[in-house]
Amino acid sequence: MYYSEQTVLFFDGQYVKAADAKTDLYSQSMHYGYAIFEGIRAYETVAGEVAIFKAEAHYQRMKDSADAVGIPLAYTVEELINISYEVLSRNGLKNAYLRPLLFCPPNMSLQKAKAAHLMIAAWEWGAYLGEQLLRVMTSSFQRPNPKAFKVHAKVSGHYVNSIMACQEAKDHGYDEALLLDANGFVAEGPGANVFFEKDGQLFTPALGNILPGITRATVIELANELGIPVVETACTPEALKQADSAFFCGTAAEVIGWKSIDEYVFPTPWHQSIGYQLQKAYKDLVLEKQSNTVQA
Ligand code: PMP
Repeated sequence: MYYSEQTVLFFDGQYVKAADAKTDLYSQSMHYGYAIFEGIRAYETVAGEVAIFKAEAHYQRMKDSADAVGIPLAYTVEELINISYEVLSRNGLKNAYLRPLLFCPPNMSLQKAKAAHLMIAAWEWGAYLGEQLLRVMTSSFQRPNPKAFKVHAKVSGHYVNSIMACQEAKDHGYDEALLLDANGFVAEGPGANVFFEKDGQLFTPALGNILPGITRATVIELANELGIPVVETACTPEALKQADSAFFCGTAAEVIGWKSIDEYVFPTPWHQSIGYQLQKAYKDLVLEKQSNTVQA
């Protein structure tokens, strides 16, 4: 359960009980998926402080996503960050997931929103994709075509595609899906970006058909620091199936290794992979351990 009788969330300028907060069934977001959201994690750092990881980057992406689809967001990045810390503090949360949602008032037309509601909720959430290596299935669903959707924006409606891909993979006995783009290149998971390792180099799909993940950008920064070459390019599914290792990364998933893709099992043991090094570096970074120099 995401909330209890005590949980408090932010809703349009007020901190209210989650159990009492109400929305309108005639909302344009409810009917058409026309809403923007973010997924953000807060960590209790080694110094014992609560730190929202990459808060500015997430709220900047939220503003950019809202602009991309014409939903007004009447808060600055700084205000959104302050509200988020307040939500964490009012709920006594330290290691938590924050879910801001920008959604629209009643409107059954297909015109863009003139006003919007903002809610920010938080809850304790463990590793989203678990801790075990993943058995991944190439989905029969493609990522949305960038000529049909603003794929760089985190729009609620896009996630119907993610739900279908994830469900298909689970129905076939896999842990998670990998979606290709409209041209047949590797794109991303339903809620995470993908990297693979070949001969000491990391490969990841270039921007254009994917959500520009904040964890993806962080992993690239960490790899640069560790002297690991990263190639952002169009990646074929065939190249992925000759890789040494692979992993997903995302705010909720963090860095999580793959066991296999379809019938292909990655030959490098996870603990010897580049992904494993980056998984450790990422954990250190979010917890603000001194070994890292990349700033949150
Ligand atoms: N791709 C998709 C489709 C996602 O939903 C997410 C999660 N937001 C990601 C990638 C990873 O993005 P981030 O690292 O910013 O969480």
